[in-house]
Amino acid sequence: MKGKPLADRIRSEVAADVAQLGHVGLVTVLVGDDPASDVYIRLKHKAATEAGFDATDLRLPAATTEEALLAKLAALNASGEVDAILVQLPLPAHIDEAKVIRAVEPSKDVDGFHPLNAGELYLGRPAIVSATPRGVMALLAEHRVELDGARAVVVGRSAIVGKPMTHLLQQANATVTLCHSHTRELPRHTLDADVLVVAAGVPALVSPDMVKAGAVVVDVGMNRTEAGLVGDVDPGAAEVASAITPVPGGVGPLTIACLLENAVRCARYGRGELVYPG
Ligand code: NAP
Repeated sequence: MKGKPLADRIRSEVAADVAQLGHVGLVTVLVGDDPASDVYIRLKHKAATEAGFDATDLRLPAATTEEALLAKLAALNASGEVDAILVQLPLPAHIDEAKVIRAVEPSKDVDGFHPLNAGELYLGRPAIVSATPRGVMALLAEHRVELDGARAVVVGRSAIVGKPMTHLLQQANATVTLCHSHTRELPRHTLDADVLVVAAGVPALVSPDMVKAGAVVVDVGMNRTEAGLVGDVDPGAAEVASAITPVPGGVGPLTIACLLENAVRCARYGRGELVYPG
């Protein structure tokens, strides 16, 4: 299940929406000079600019105080030119990440990390949902993977991927199991999965013998190793699964496409075309 064809289609739909809206302002905020964050920000800007967004790449020094960052976010929240705000994580250790996430206006929270957005998802009436799990759902829908009544197993419980993933799968009427680093006998769970989503950040955590014959496997992992970029699932699992996402070229492109979709949603909230539930 390659992600790029669907991602390209979503991105061209987003470009049409942006053209219709006229101006959509997306601001990314990067504090410090973490090299991985720099790569992610560049990729997001390239995609946003290609889709016609008015994208601003705000870079703040690593020594920026929490107070200064919060003041900057308050100004972005108040600006009529800014529809969507993304604070790149991780933040430097002296800044309280949870406090910063709470400081972004929920209807401009393009990542869907604000507790209001996470809470709406938990309650089953999503507002803005984290782009990676949305991308996974879009890919499963594209490939007509049956979720109603399916056994879905998610490995990894981060607030960015694993947890929102379980809510979306459960809303699609799958029976969901969430595994993490304290899970005993992980293979017992993964072998039960009709749909297996792995987001642990551990190269080759899932070996072919941990996958049920005919299962659909989504590998969210992106791990930089000496062998290059690898996922959390041993590629040999393709011999057992009925469908599997490659790394790279699977979930990654969809994350960016869904992020841009979220930014359009933010713009619609800002214009009153959609009413933010919060
Ligand atoms: P994270 O915050 O580090 O969370 C990792 C999760 O995996 C944790 O819940 C952890 O359990 C669990 N875990 C770690 N080792 C495990 C093991 N041996 N067995 C079972 N569970 C284990 O990571 P994340 O942000 O969710 O990202 C996960 C991976 O996805 C990373 O490789 C990241 O680069 C990638 N990613 C890709 C995209 C994309 O667009 N493709 C987007 C986001 C993330 P505990 O909670 O018990 O610690």
